[in-house]
Amino acid sequence: MNLEPIQLSILIVLGLTVGSFLNVCIHRIPREQSLMFPPSRCPGCEHRLSWFENIPVLSYAVLGGRCRKCRTRISIRYPLVELATMAFFIVHGEVFGWSALLVPRLLFACAMVVLFAIDLEHHLLPNVITLPGIAIGLISSAVLPPGLVDALVGAAIGGGVLWLIGEAYYRYSGHEGMGGGDVKMLAMIGAFLGWKLVLVTLVLSSFAGSLIGVAVIALKRGGMKYALPYGTFLALGALVASLAGDAIVNWYVSLY
Ligand SMILES: [Zn+2]
Repeated sequence: MNLEPIQLSILIVLGLTVGSFLNVCIHRIPREQSLMFPPSRCPGCEHRLSWFENIPVLSYAVLGGRCRKCRTRISIRYPLVELATMAFFIVHGEVFGWSALLVPRLLFACAMVVLFAIDLEHHLLPNVITLPGIAIGLISSAVLPPGLVDALVGAAIGGGVLWLIGEAYYRYSGHEGMGGGDVKMLAMIGAFLGWKLVLVTLVLSSFAGSLIGVAVIALKRGGMKYALPYGTFLALGALVASLAGDAIVNWYVSLY
């Protein structure tokens, strides 16, 4: 264990609290609503949630996943996102230690959680996350690893490779294959992680995509046309690359 008990406690509380805010982002950003106002309400009866109905995970468990007033069912996504964010905060703390790099990597992980959930539900990767994400990634990479040049090349490769694939597919088939959102998301991943880890992300997400694709075809559910949005695979691949990418690169290099 890299973390002191007090650091672990801070990451647990912070992870649950931030996870609760990420739920607000996931619900409101695709609907183009303000993140600050109004305060959280029940989607069924508009009843405004008091503080004790808004405690991450605990409120959901105590209230049995329903609104206290009208008993409308609350999505299991809320506690799941809170628990997942908490888990990511702990794992990041263990991997990066109590270091400066922990801050941008936690921010990056939060963005990946939000993009994953929004793409899964709406097939959308909002510019309000990816564009500032590219800028913040480049700024943080200028002072912390992987360094500005590495990050600029990463953003260019990330955005460029997907753009080329999409363009080639479009010329060939006449159909829009890859959304512009994927291109911007991969540029953001490159800006935060640098060019090596953006390549790791591409390999991991294609691998995950093929596995799921094969499983779907094997189960004959919807056939070839059924596909999860690519952004969800990119988010998963990028999280693994951020946490274990350097180890994966070193292992790969050691083979030669
Ligand atoms: Zn209600």
